[in-house]
Amino acid sequence: MNETGLIISGYHHDTGVHPERADRLGAIEEVCHLPEFSSHLLRLEPRSATVEELARVHDRDYICRVEEACRGGIHALDPDTMVSSASYEEARRAAGGGLTVLDAMMAGRVRNGFCAVRPPGHHAERDRAMGFCLFNNIAVTARYAQARHNLKNVLIVDWDVHHGNGTQNTFYADPTVFYFSIHQYPHYPGSGAADQTGRGEGEGRTLNVPLPAGGDDKAYREALVDRLIPAMESFPPDLILISAGFDAHRDDPLAGMMVTDEGFGGMTKLLVALAEERCGGRLLSFLEGGYSLEGLKGAVRMHLRALIRN
Ligand SMILES: [Zn+2]
Repeated sequence: MNETGLIISGYHHDTGVHPERADRLGAIEEVCHLPEFSSHLLRLEPRSATVEELARVHDRDYICRVEEACRGGIHALDPDTMVSSASYEEARRAAGGGLTVLDAMMAGRVRNGFCAVRPPGHHAERDRAMGFCLFNNIAVTARYAQARHNLKNVLIVDWDVHHGNGTQNTFYADPTVFYFSIHQYPHYPGSGAADQTGRGEGEGRTLNVPLPAGGDDKAYREALVDRLIPAMESFPPDLILISAGFDAHRDDPLAGMMVTDEGFGGMTKLLVALAEERCGGRLLSFLEGGYSLEGLKGAVRMHLRALIRN
C-alpha cells in the first residue's frame, strides 16, 4: 500500500479559448508518465458524484440549473465560467474523483491521493458557479468523509493563488472543518481578509493569510509553519485535503506570486508530514488553478514526488 492514488479527469469539459483548458490535464498526464512515477501511482477511474452527495454542499435547484445550462453549446454561466454539453457530467466526475480516491485510501488500496480534475471547484458557491468552478469538489469530499467514513475533523489547506470563497462560505459556521488559505490579496475574488475567521460555532475555524503580490517560497512556507501548524494544536484533524492550485507559480499568467517548483514540493512535504503525525497520513489534494503549462509540469512533478516519497 505504498502507492499514491491518481485521478486525471475532465478532458471533455470544453471551455473554448480559455486559460482553464483541457491542455492543462495533458501537461499533468505527461508528468505522471515519467519513469520516476511508474511504480508509485495507481490510476483510478472517478465515479460521478450523486445528486445527494452534491446536495450536501449545493442547493438542489442549482444542481438542476447547471444540468440544464450544459444542454446548449459552449456558453458562459458568468463572465469567467464556461460550460458545454459534457460539462455537467465532467463536473460530477470532478466532484466524484475525491470520493473515489478517499474510498480507496480508507480501504487501504492507496496511501494518499492527487485528483487532477476539471472543472476546478473552490470558487463554486452553494447556489452559484464562479471563477471557472461549477461544483465545489473539495467541499463535497469533506462532507462525504464525515458522512461516509466518520472522519470528523477535516482540515482544508488552500494554496491556490486565489481565495477559495466557496469553500470558506460552505464551512464558515462549522466547527468540524478548518479552512486555511494563503492567497494573493487584494485579488480575485476579493474575499479572504485576515479578519474573516469564521462565525458562531465556526469562529476560529477559518484562517486566512492574505499576502501581497510577489510572495515567494519563504512567505508561503512561513504561513504554513507559523500560522497553520500552531492552529492545529486546538484542531486535531482526521483528514487533510489540499486545494492545490498551482497559479501562485512564478510563471503563472493570471497572478503575481513567485512560488517555484521546489516551493510547491516543500509545502507538500510539510503537509504530508503533518498528516503522518496527526491523522495516519490521510491526505488528498485537488487541482484548482494553474495556467502556465510549463509551470504546472514543474510544480506537479515536485508535488507528486513529495506525495510518494515521504
Ligand atoms: Zn486560482
